[in-house]
Amino acid sequence: MTTLTKEAGAPRPAAGDAFLSVRDLHVSFKTEDGIVRAVDGLSFDLDRGRTLGIVGESGSGKSVTNLTVLGLHNPMFTTVEGEILLDGKELTTAREPELEKLRGNKAAMIFQDPLTALSPYYTVGRQIAEPFRKHTGASKREAWDRAVEMLGKVGIPNPGQRAKDYPHQFSGGMRQRAMIAMALVCDPDLLIADEPTTALDVTVQAQILDLLKDLQREFGSAIIFITHDLGVIADMADDIMVMYAGNAVERGTVDEVLRAPQHPYTWGLLNSMPRLDSDVSVPLAPIPGTPPSLLTPPSGCRFHPRCTFQDRVAGARCVTERPLLAPDRDSACHLTAEQKRTIFIEEIKPRLG
Ligand code: SF4
Repeated sequence: MTTLTKEAGAPRPAAGDAFLSVRDLHVSFKTEDGIVRAVDGLSFDLDRGRTLGIVGESGSGKSVTNLTVLGLHNPMFTTVEGEILLDGKELTTAREPELEKLRGNKAAMIFQDPLTALSPYYTVGRQIAEPFRKHTGASKREAWDRAVEMLGKVGIPNPGQRAKDYPHQFSGGMRQRAMIAMALVCDPDLLIADEPTTALDVTVQAQILDLLKDLQREFGSAIIFITHDLGVIADMADDIMVMYAGNAVERGTVDEVLRAPQHPYTWGLLNSMPRLDSDVSVPLAPIPGTPPSLLTPPSGCRFHPRCTFQDRVAGARCVTERPLLAPDRDSACHLTAEQKRTIFIEEIKPRLG
C-alpha cells in the first residue's frame, strides 16, 4: 500500500497512518440482471493538504468509490467490503448517525449538478447556515453570519443580500459557488469534488478551480477531485489515480503519470484528449470499444478487449491473469517495465507532441 506523494523519496506513512486510507474496497450492487461489481479491490491513501485526482471513463468506479467513502450508498442494494479509515475511524461498519455527523463536519462533497444538492424551497443562505448550526451548535444568527461570510469567500458579490435569494435566482456558476460554500462551511478535513466544473463554461470553470485551490490553502483540507479531464487534473492535483472498470490501473504523482504514463489505458486517455498546441490535421485517437459491463467483466486484464498492446505480452496472460498494482508507483499491466518505457517513448509520446 502506498501513499501518493509528490516528492520522490518523501517518507510514506505506514498503513493506516494516512488521513484517508482505503484498503481492498469492494462495492457491489444487486440488480435485476445480477450483481454489478462496481469497485473491485481498490486501495489508496490520502493525506491532509493534498489533492488526489481520480480519472476514468463513466462506469470506472470513481464516483461509487467516493459516495461509499461518505456512506451515501443505499445499504439495501449495496454490499461494501474492505476498510475505509478516515482519521483512524473505520467507516464501512459505522452506523448512519455517525456517518451523518461525519458528513459536513469532517468530510463533504461537491456534486456536478448543484441543483441536485440545493433545495429550491429554501434560501441559499439558510441552506448554508443549517449544516453549520447542526454541526457546531451555533445560534441562528451566528449561522446566518457564517453563511454570508462563506458566500463572500467563494466570490458571491453582495453576499448579505444574495444569501436571501433562492437557488433559481443564481446563475449556474453562482450555484456551484454556493454549493462549495455549503460543503466548506464546517471546514471539512476531506472534500470530495465530483466533476464540479463539467457543466460550466471555461471561464467560470477556471474561477472555480482557483477558488478550490485557495480554499485548500486556507483550510488545509485533503481533496479528492473526480474528473474525466486530465487537463483539469494536471492543474489541480498532486497525485493521480487512473481507474478502469472498478479498479486502479495506474497511480503516481501528477508529474510521473503525465510525463511518463505506463498503462495502455492512460496512453489512450492522453491520446484522445484535445490539446491547444496539437496539430489540428492529426485526428484524435479515441480508445477503441466501450467500457465493459461490470455484470460480466472481462477475464484477466479488464482492459484487454480494448487494448492494442496485448500481443506484446507472452502467452495469453492478458486474457487469463489479472494484473495487479505493485506497492509503489506502478501500473496494473503485464507489459514489462522496459516495454512500457520503450512503447511510451517510441510510439505514444511522438503522437502527443
Ligand atoms: Fe493491455 Fe495486457 Fe497490459 Fe491489460 S495487461 S493493459 S491487456 S497489455
